Amino acid sequence: MIIAVDGPAAAGKGTLARRLAERFGLALLDTGLLYRAVGLKVMQRGGDPGNATVAAEAAGELLPADLENPNLRGDDAANSASKVAAIPEVRAKLLEFQRAFARTPPGPATGAVLDGRDIGTVVCPDADVKIFVTASVEVRAQRRLKELRERGLEAIHSRVLQDMEARDARDAGRDVSPLAPAKNAFILDTSALDADGAFAVALDFIESRNLPG
Ligand code: C5P
Repeated sequence: MIIAVDGPAAAGKGTLARRLAERFGLALLDTGLLYRAVGLKVMQRGGDPGNATVAAEAAGELLPADLENPNLRGDDAANSASKVAAIPEVRAKLLEFQRAFARTPPGPATGAVLDGRDIGTVVCPDADVKIFVTASVEVRAQRRLKELRERGLEAIHSRVLQDMEARDARDAGRDVSPLAPAKNAFILDTSALDADGAFAVALDFIESRNLPG
């Protein structure tokens, strides 16, 4: 079973993907981490994340250890990620890894949950379940602010909101694999739901599909 979970930043897709993977015994791939790792690598080299040559080179040299970098979760990595993510050569380099993970998940799992922006549309267009998780930009900015502060980081609401709007615009407006729900995706708006509520709605949807296994 392949479950595709897509959506904009801080909509709740990471938590939902993790809980679905646990519930169904599936392997989990947070594909945003791949783009974040490329973005961070470019920045560490003092390069411009918008430069196709530099970014594609970094994508080609990605190592498993790069996915362990503690700075991956920060907003600088996120902003750099959304710049490298608009470069077709970078996406092409990361595509095969994602598809191979879905086809042959690591460990005993017989399927996978992938979360990202283009899983249902491009990476796994034949996924058994496609969920597009969304929420209003104001709610998403509030969640992000809370998360940053809980991690002990200083964060200003207006700046978080501004960064989020800029990242949404870049992700939805790019020519290659823009952020968009697949035609057959289930749209899950989490604006008024907490993590338990979102999980319950997603589970109802999946169970209503009567999938094998
Ligand atoms: O999901 P996360 O916030 O970690 O993703 C960081 C950035 O990576 C996104 O803003 C987006 O630009 C890019 N991304 C992407 N396609 C994916 C996953 C992430 O373009 N499948």
